[in-house]
Amino acid sequence: MEMMEIWQTALTEIKQVLSAPVFDMWIKQLQPGRLLDDQRFEILTGNAFAASYVQDHYGSLLESTLSTAAGRIIRPVFVVDPDPPQTTQPPQETVIRPAAPATSGVDGRYTFDNFVVGSCNQFAHAAAARVADAPATAYNPLYIQGGVGLGKTHLLHAIGNALFRARPEGKTLYITSEKFMNQMVESIRFNQAHHFRENFRSVDILLVDDIQFIAGKKGTQEEFFHTFNALQAASKQVVITSDSFPGEIDHLEERLRSRFSQGLVVDIHPPDLETRMAILKKKAAQEGMDLQDDVAFFLAETIQTNVRELEGALIRAFLLASLEKEPVTLTLVKESLRGTVLRAEPRMVSMEKIIETVASYFKIRPMDIRSDKRARRYSHPRQVAMFLCKQLTRHSYPDIALEFGGRNHTTVLYAVDKIASLKEVDTDLEQAVNTLSAMLRK
Ligand code: ADP
Ligand code: MG
Repeated sequence: MEMMEIWQTALTEIKQVLSAPVFDMWIKQLQPGRLLDDQRFEILTGNAFAASYVQDHYGSLLESTLSTAAGRIIRPVFVVDPDPPQTTQPPQETVIRPAAPATSGVDGRYTFDNFVVGSCNQFAHAAAARVADAPATAYNPLYIQGGVGLGKTHLLHAIGNALFRARPEGKTLYITSEKFMNQMVESIRFNQAHHFRENFRSVDILLVDDIQFIAGKKGTQEEFFHTFNALQAASKQVVITSDSFPGEIDHLEERLRSRFSQGLVVDIHPPDLETRMAILKKKAAQEGMDLQDDVAFFLAETIQTNVRELEGALIRAFLLASLEKEPVTLTLVKESLRGTVLRAEPRMVSMEKIIETVASYFKIRPMDIRSDKRARRYSHPRQVAMFLCKQLTRHSYPDIALEFGGRNHTTVLYAVDKIASLKEVDTDLEQAVNTLSAMLRK
């Protein structure tokens, strides 16, 4: 079958799977390109953002429909059309790297190159790089601990990709502990437990993501223990990630706990402002998009703890900009975040807003709150406002003291303590604080 025909057949298939608006927005604009070799097939898109979006969301759909239509494996390679119909941004990167060998489970998009190093993750990064450099010599196992969305999975894939590049013949396997469990259960069901074992015990590097999921799963822990031991005995590298330290995972067998702590345990912290800005810049450059400093700063300030959310916010902004055919300005970014992070992130509330809201709730004036009038009808709302400033913003005690007419910060400390303990016994006060918090978070 001609490639053009295969393309048309695949499109007809996809049209039945996707909703019309989605199809029109993302798929219709794609153009078939050249066949690069017997598998890889170029697909042209309008800009780098569309290329990466389509690859992420519809890449496997395209691959499977094209392959079905062709009767053999066809892998789409998304390429930015050098002569885009009507995009405002000049494309930068032309080819999105195709995924690393599919059987390894390693995702080609996550590399050391596009991992931003800051003080929050430098040890984890250095350890991962070392392992990729000289597996099974330095730290075995390497155990990476960190909260959600801080780059653990990214580092695992980066190790996999680096190893693949350095020695393509080595066998690397990336798997989540959940998948490990599912595959184990399947293998038992189909009487293929020995295949399962062989598969895992024949690797040179095993990258296990989110090990915490095997907590409480007795059979899986047992199997993993033996896999782990077999690999260690054969001097093969194991890298593990988790949201908790080995000692903190409830219902994890003691023997696993001690095995996990045997090598090196490193943790990743939430990134600081500079690192968040650097991540945004890198991501934008990767997408071939322009990111103004004020926009980067705003996003980095607004989303402080989770890199995944940070990226998500950037993507939303790019998406809106491309739909509206407008540049990514601060106004547009705020618009794109409305109803999501902006509501969920209480630290966006300003102290000024808190003072205003509390004043109007207690029917006094904001200036009364900032004053040093001692009457209870002023001092009580003032203490509530201080308490809310501490709860809803990231300002320090001295910062808050400054906002409240420049008093001593111990006054704020006292007020916050007092309201916190009073609230426990005074239901009216508790109610007032809850109402105010809810109003302010809106
Ligand atoms: P985790 O596995 O810790 O939950 P991920 O590795 O999935 O987090 O990271 C979430 C997203 O944030 C990914 O898209 C990843 O590429 C990105 N990310 C996290 N940390 C960094 C970093 N230091 N530099 C670049 N991108 C990062
Ligand atoms: Mg992860």
